[in-house]
Amino acid sequence: MTEWDRALNYIDGRWEEGSSGEFAENINPATNEVLGTVTLSTTEDVNRAVRAAEAAFRKWRLVPAPRRAQVLYRVGELLRQRKEQLARILTQEMGKVLEEARGEVQEAIDMAFYMGGEGRRLFGQTTPSELPNKMALSVREPVGVVGLITPWNFPIAIASWKSLPAIVAGNTVVWKPATETPFMAREFVKIYEEAGLPPGVLNLVYGSGSVVGEALVEHPGVQVISFTGSNEVGRSIAAKAGARLKRVSLEMGGKNAVIVMDDANMSLAVDAILWGAFGTTGQRCTATSRVIVHRSVKAQLEQMLLDRIPGLPIGNGLDEHVRIGPVINAVSLRRIHDYVQIGLQEGARLLTGGHTVEPSGLRGFYYAPTVFTDATADMRIAQEEIFGPVVTLIPVDSLEDAIQVNNRVAFGLSSSIFTQDVNRVFTAMRDLDTGIVYVNAGTTGAEIHLPFGGTKGTGNGHRDSGQAALDVFTEWKSIYVDFSGTLQRAQIDVGNV
Ligand code: NAP
Ligand code: MG
Repeated sequence: MTEWDRALNYIDGRWEEGSSGEFAENINPATNEVLGTVTLSTTEDVNRAVRAAEAAFRKWRLVPAPRRAQVLYRVGELLRQRKEQLARILTQEMGKVLEEARGEVQEAIDMAFYMGGEGRRLFGQTTPSELPNKMALSVREPVGVVGLITPWNFPIAIASWKSLPAIVAGNTVVWKPATETPFMAREFVKIYEEAGLPPGVLNLVYGSGSVVGEALVEHPGVQVISFTGSNEVGRSIAAKAGARLKRVSLEMGGKNAVIVMDDANMSLAVDAILWGAFGTTGQRCTATSRVIVHRSVKAQLEQMLLDRIPGLPIGNGLDEHVRIGPVINAVSLRRIHDYVQIGLQEGARLLTGGHTVEPSGLRGFYYAPTVFTDATADMRIAQEEIFGPVVTLIPVDSLEDAIQVNNRVAFGLSSSIFTQDVNRVFTAMRDLDTGIVYVNAGTTGAEIHLPFGGTKGTGNGHRDSGQAALDVFTEWKSIYVDFSGTLQRAQIDVGNV
């Protein structure tokens, strides 16, 4: 290990150790090998990072937005130059296969250029006043210091969804990444530094959620918290932030379904289910975790899945022919296996999988792609997020049933329908109550210029990505300019025309 294998905090433009003096190991889940270590911080480090961000905000908010955007364009360039190197670090750090890791870095590249473009937009409204010789407009203002708390499953994409709009809008940032993926955070911050971001605009503080995350949520100097992660943690953040009247944007779990109707293009549906259920080893918030299948095509679908699953090699994601990498850690492996036992006890039928795997020579955390069938909508395996390579088939008899089953979960992130019938398509588009709906495509595949997020237990009404992200990181200011030279009173001095 070299000095660079220790991930350090970045506060006010300096790389430094956290004040706890302790380090955690960064494990490669494909091999169980130690890649390096990450510094652990205390509340004191968070306080210093917030002070640095507060000081930087006083200048950064006054830099014209198109100039702030120049930094984002350079970030995009550097990400593009380093795409392969970053993808390899990403695969080693959290396990997803190289092809998907490249896709994730591409998402950050796209976001950098898209949000760079926002530097020349950040549009508000200009509107006539109801009074003569007066004009009215609205502008987006940065909010101040924002706290970002991100998960390990998309360590650079999600960080890009949050940091790029926050920074282009003129805010300054304190970022706490997941302790499981410290190197991607370090690489991303290094790129911001090289791109010329002034010290203090983006600060990185490593440490556990319960220490560093909570300190950010509770710090009075942090105006906004943008969080992606589990429902449980999101709920506790919302409660604490609510008591402080702090704005919080939450993106949390999903229980996403593909609906396969009796007129579906079956081979396309199978492609989508395999990609959605087993891509990123099922550890995507938009993973396909349920398949709601018309009873008349259920047996055919089961057989097609059984035929295809043995063709998905399991192993180290650095190996280009591997299609399913490891899960993140041993705790996760156990949790997934526990859910499989629950499914069996509930009476669902295990079609394939349901056990750990040891690809030759690898000591990582592997689970076989697992399919349950003949489940009912109220079983726990059909209701709770498993976050592993497990998908559950639920038979139904009509589109109405399918939509009802789709909607009868606590989450509302993504849903998908396979059908050739335009009337069914438009009914589903209207009635599926998730933040994202796909037609004849699987549950994953969001593009960065559209809003990303979910309804019900998945979120709290905010969205990442697209222009919607700016709503999280800006405050509206309405400005009235009166050039009449008299006191004009709205709603009172409006004469008849
Ligand atoms: P997690 O345990 O909730 O952790 C997410 C982040 O929150 C990590 O940085 C974690 O830090 C931090 N954290 C933990 N406890 C905290 C606390 N008390 N206060 C403040 N921060 C705290 O989730 P995860 O296991 O990393 O990620 C998986 C979850 O994320 C799944 O539920 C998945 O569906 C969801 N997800 C949602 C989306 C979406 O956009 N809807 C996208 C991706 C993932 P440490 O881990 O370092 O302690
Ligand atoms: Mg790791």
